[in-house]
Amino acid sequence: MTNLRLATLQGGNRTIVPVDSVKIGEGFTVIAGPCTVESERQTIETAIAVRIAGAHALRGGAFKPRSSPYAFQGLGLKGLRILQKAKIETGLPIVTEVVDSRDVFWVSEYADVLQIGARNMQNFSLLKEVGRSQRPVLLKRGMNSTIEEWLNCAEYILNEGNPHVILCERGIRTFEKYTRNTLDLSSVPAIKELSHLPIIVDPSHATGRVSLIPSLSLAAVAAGADGVIVEVDINPQEALCDGEQTLTPSQFADIVRKINGLHQFMAVSQ
Ligand code: PEP
Ligand code: MN
Repeated sequence: MTNLRLATLQGGNRTIVPVDSVKIGEGFTVIAGPCTVESERQTIETAIAVRIAGAHALRGGAFKPRSSPYAFQGLGLKGLRILQKAKIETGLPIVTEVVDSRDVFWVSEYADVLQIGARNMQNFSLLKEVGRSQRPVLLKRGMNSTIEEWLNCAEYILNEGNPHVILCERGIRTFEKYTRNTLDLSSVPAIKELSHLPIIVDPSHATGRVSLIPSLSLAAVAAGADGVIVEVDINPQEALCDGEQTLTPSQFADIVRKINGLHQFMAVSQ
């Protein structure tokens, strides 16, 4: 890791990122919610369901970085207002993506955590802008990026004065087509070895398949991750985006039970 300087490197204390009363990096954090905010009803009902199942924070995109310009791009400000209502309704802090550096300031009024998506991992002006914001940043790994490139992007944020970066492994592109991406779980212990920053896993975008999410959520716990972020919707069949990788609330509740059991087992056996 020759190009890395000091900001992200391991050097004693682990960073714990406070998000309202949730402390990411302490215990195991579960973030859940729809891929995309589509309506008030869908978002609030999903938020209530994931809270009951044990989620600590709500995810949901109001700005969607879609591969096709013709696909639904998200509700923008209207979506952020819906997330704000969902927070009032459930108390769950909001994790939502920002895709443009010009939007960081005002999106920060609605987001408790600013998500930088895989496609924007190396958008350096966006990284600098979130580095100047007061909000924690969830930095997803670029689908074609090495661990070193990813950590260098975290450095961009930290160097602007924002110490609250959460890394998120969401799978990388390989020749394998059965899964949407290949979940590089080795990045979890590697990041722990290299950096003080917390790391969570996104098994939804990593696999693209509901059937694989339970196993990989548990594998994330076993690998030492600080949390998971998963897509859940009251009605995945009707989701406008990523329905095939979106859990129902009862599938999610089942995974949370197993995660908690495994996490407890690991804590006692350490
Ligand atoms: C998302 O979490 O909504 C998303 C678009 O994920 P990624 O940036 O990892 O593709
Ligand atoms: Mn998605």
